Amino acid sequence: MSGVNEIRSTFLDYFKSAGHEVVASSPLVPRNDPTLMFANSGMVQFKNVFTGQEKRPYARATTAQKCVRAGGKHNDLDNVGYTARHHTFFEMLGNFSFGDYFKEQAITHAWTLITREFGLPKDKLTVTVYSEDDEAHALWKKIAGLPDSRIIRIPTSDNFWRMGDTGPCGPCSEIFYDHGDHIPGGPPGSPDEDGDRFIEIWNLVFMQYEEAAGGIRTDLPRPSIDTGMGLERIAAVLQGTHDNYAIDLFAALINAIAELTSVASDGPMKASHRVIADHLRCSAFLIADGVLPSNEGRGYVLRRIMRRGMRHAQLLGAKEPLLYKLVPVLTREMGRAYPELLRAESLISETLKLEETRFRTTLARGLTLLDDAARDLVSGQSLKGDVAFTLYDTYGFPLDLTQDALRARGVSVDTEGFDAAMQQQKAKARAAWAGTGEAATEKLWFPLRDRVGATEFLGYDTETAEGVV
Ligand code: ATP
Ligand code: MG
Ligand code: MG
Ligand code: MG
Repeated sequence: MSGVNEIRSTFLDYFKSAGHEVVASSPLVPRNDPTLMFANSGMVQFKNVFTGQEKRPYARATTAQKCVRAGGKHNDLDNVGYTARHHTFFEMLGNFSFGDYFKEQAITHAWTLITREFGLPKDKLTVTVYSEDDEAHALWKKIAGLPDSRIIRIPTSDNFWRMGDTGPCGPCSEIFYDHGDHIPGGPPGSPDEDGDRFIEIWNLVFMQYEEAAGGIRTDLPRPSIDTGMGLERIAAVLQGTHDNYAIDLFAALINAIAELTSVASDGPMKASHRVIADHLRCSAFLIADGVLPSNEGRGYVLRRIMRRGMRHAQLLGAKEPLLYKLVPVLTREMGRAYPELLRAESLISETLKLEETRFRTTLARGLTLLDDAARDLVSGQSLKGDVAFTLYDTYGFPLDLTQDALRARGVSVDTEGFDAAMQQQKAKARAAWAGTGEAATEKLWFPLRDRVGATEFLGYDTETAEGVV
């Protein structure tokens, strides 16, 4: 059985021997790109290389990229704990060609790596292509010898990638592993494709066109390749499980949580173990890359993730801060590949401990309030927005924490009511200031109050680089 660390090396070594430069992961906070909240795919650090604005001394590269998808366009936060394949933080393995090789070689590399190096049986693999991409369809047939029934044409934007509103774009092709009919879910393109039976392991993007304003497409003179494979997903396949949370790395974290809380990780509290393990890992990597919990922007995403993890620790009955105790397990599993974790180990532990110590008191009181307010609600009903707002404003519950707390019971939150309560409070605060003649103070104070009090920082929503679709 190959561990996560070995699988990462096998991937990078394979592409290195195929002439690719092994490039380190970029930090999670993208440099020079204020529009993107976190690196969310391998191509982010190469964006300007693909557009030709930046030259590198190599035309082929391979990376294991740290990614976070917990805000903005790609937000997998709500999937964590509920699907077997999504994390907030994950590693994306990729190979890139900057105007060098194209479709045929990209497909050949992908097929060779998964069937020869990783030894996956051909009959478990299904691929998708963009419906109009006859070339990719023919190449899969030729290279992999797959029958037509397992080269599925997908007409939607899921299989057409764009860097932004204009710029490089092109069809893509996704490789799925069939974990077997004992797992619910259908093949890609079918109505129940969101199940965990057919899991997408690798996405190949064929950057083939340049799109100008008005949707006019021209062929790129030197097309490029961008691919992304989820390390945790391929590890699950290679370790004989359909469940990302059962791989060696997560098993170590989840076992530690079970030991520290004395709550079994395979019983009814399974989702809490997963959420804690995932959120702890994401928080640690964000802190190591310089993000600290705060009330806006990236820091608020971190705070939301930490606090959600902390509520699940509370659900497991933890009597004292728990998350920081898992840091040594994480550094043992991932510190060799990511030395920044070791360098920041004490900062990570202290930040987690302080936040959890502070939040635990209001968390307990807020949960009592929430229990009282939601006691009589049944599936399909929603919690009043002003209660969610009090939880937010007085008890420090991010909105999604409240939503997460009610989700298992099928109860939602009246988010319009929540927003209205927020606006009302802002208006009240303004009225209280009116007539004091302190116009200058008001100008300074309100923008600050609005920013600090904002539930979600919206400034990053217009992401320009989207990464792999
Ligand atoms: P899905 O459809 O399963 O959400 P995706 O199409 O959004 O995946 P891509 O943007 O194509 O994912 O990213 C490339 C690869 O990264 C995917 O094929 C998958 O293996 C992996 N990946 C994507 N999102 C996650 C996540 N939240 N957690 C773990 N791995 C992920
Ligand atoms: Mg996705
Ligand atoms: Mg997909
Ligand atoms: Mg994809």
